[in-house]
Formats: sequence, structure tokens, C-alpha cells
Amino acid sequence: MKTIGMLGGMSWESTVEYYRIINHEVRRRLGGQRSAKIVLYSVDFEEIEALQNEDRWDVAAEILVDAAHRIESGGAEFLVMCSNTMHKVAPTIESAIGIPLVHIADATAGQVRAAGIRRVGLLGTRFTMQEEFYRGRLAERHGLDVVTPLADDQALVDRVIFAELCQGEIRDSSRREYVRIIAELGVHGAEAVILGCTEIGLLVRPEDSPLPAFDTTRVHAERAVDLALAA
Ligand code: GLU
Repeated sequence: MKTIGMLGGMSWESTVEYYRIINHEVRRRLGGQRSAKIVLYSVDFEEIEALQNEDRWDVAAEILVDAAHRIESGGAEFLVMCSNTMHKVAPTIESAIGIPLVHIADATAGQVRAAGIRRVGLLGTRFTMQEEFYRGRLAERHGLDVVTPLADDQALVDRVIFAELCQGEIRDSSRREYVRIIAELGVHGAEAVILGCTEIGLLVRPEDSPLPAFDTTRVHAERAVDLALAA
């Protein structure tokens, strides 16, 4: 079994889910007391969030490159970064380390395409919903037609992520808003929705979603297990 590197803490609420899903999946596949070999480095999210808001992505990248080096020196054989948004600096991290980075958007797009879906809704932070590093990658590298919410709804989705989910607050009223927004993506032709923020699965469970949902946390964590157990 290969050792998985996890770059987490963005936020830790979702890193807990990665840890749980990865270990659960290893036990489900191998049985007995089997569990995953993991090197985890968890950052202080306050620093990262401030740098996002100040548009100082280069400084955030330095922090994550330092973390990734520590993970690599700890013996990890590949890296999963447990945030969609911070994949904005994935190219900088990838070029600084000697182990592969498993890109969350590629893992997710692979599953969306395998399900025969072309037009897909995308929920995430404002960065993920609007910028090339994520929605552009889904479109250009994977041929997906990406539908995002209207401006006011994008602001709501983003606010709930940072003000509630990253702080461990799960509110029924926010779940109802997300469900309404997902249904509207369906009206605009989306055949499924990507939960493109690693905390959204804490709020919207598959049974809540009016469209088939691809939870990036689950997809990414399961991909890590596939790679760890590959011969
Ligand atoms: N975990 C979130 C994501 O997947 C948002 C937190 C962050 O900005 O890193 O995008």
C-alpha cells in the first residue's frame, strides 16, 4: 500500500471527512483492521483565508509548498490537497515537489464523464465558480459544459461556505437555499451538480440534492484510495 499525503486544514471540517472516508474505504476494500497509511499536514486556515481575500495567492502558495515539502519528507508517495479553491496554486505546488499531485478537478471530471454527463452545475467558493483554474479546466481539459448560479446565488453559496460550513455550522435554512439553487441549475440544463467545495457535502447529502451530485471530497478521497492500493 502506498502512503497518501494529505494537505489539509482548509478547512479542518472537511479534512476530517477525507480522513474518515479514506480509512473507511481501505477497510471496506481490504477488510479486518486494515487502514490507510497517511502523512497529514494541516494548516491554520485563518492565514490562508486572509491571503485569499487580499488576493495574495503567491504567499498562500509559499505556505502550501512548505507544507507539501514536509509531507513529501514524511514519506508520502503522492499528494491530495483537501480544498478545491487552493487548486488555484496547484501548478506552483506541482512544480515544487517530487511526488504527483492528484488534481481534484481532474478526479471529479473523470467521474462526471464516466457517468455520460456533459452539462454539469458547479457550486463552490466564488473563486472556484468563476475562475479559469477550476471551471475553465472542467471545460477545456474535460469538455464539460459548466453551469453556475446567478450572481446573487453565487454570493450566497460562497458566504455559507466561509461563514457557516468552515466553522462547523450546518443550518437547515442554508440547506434549503442550496437545494433551491441546485434545482435552478437543473432548469438551466445541468444534468448533475459538482459539489465543488470540500465542505458542501456536510450540508447537502446525496438524498437532499434534486440532481445527481458529485461530492468532490468523496470523489477525491476515493481516488486517493484507488492510487494507494494500485499494484
Ligand atoms: N474547502 C473549500 C474548497 O474546497 C473552501 C475553503 C478554501 O477556500 O480553501 O474550496
